[in-house]
Amino acid sequence: MTDTAPTAFDKLDDATAEAILYGEALDAVTADRERETRRRAELEARLGWAWGRVEQLHRLLTVAEAARDRYRHQVDLADAERARLAEELAAVRAAANGAGPVIDLAACRRCGCTEARACLGGCGWATGAEQLAVGLDPMEGDLCTACLQDRIRERDRARPWWQRMFRR
Ligand SMILES: [Zn+2]
Ligand SMILES: [Zn+2]
Repeated sequence: MTDTAPTAFDKLDDATAEAILYGEALDAVTADRERETRRRAELEARLGWAWGRVEQLHRLLTVAEAARDRYRHQVDLADAERARLAEELAAVRAAANGAGPVIDLAACRRCGCTEARACLGGCGWATGAEQLAVGLDPMEGDLCTACLQDRIRERDRARPWWQRMFRR
């Protein structure tokens, strides 16, 4: 014991003091975890809501496209709104993936791989342009580069041999 003025801790034995300190650390961890869970739920809710709107607009657009000539103006509006929402959705995703622990919101629509669980040999996200280039609709969801390669191989196999000869 020292000669300094007694503090609250001096009255405690080591085991009790340890329990208090350890308990505080646990409380902090638990609070962090709860905050993280709430934040994740909020982001997922926002993302789900944005997706719902994009899908709804996509459906409306498809219907509108059938009558494109009669509803040219509405189609243009829907197109613009769809592009805007795609940006909004990308921003939500960036926010979800950027901060804090890994949050797996994005998954490949073909193989189901995610940021945290990539394909064997590694993969990334195919861009919208890459998807369009192989005849896929990027609005259908995320696609990983491994599945993009599969798609390219599938298309190659479907070509006649003489076309394959002239490729590259
Ligand atoms: Zn994939
Ligand atoms: Zn993958």
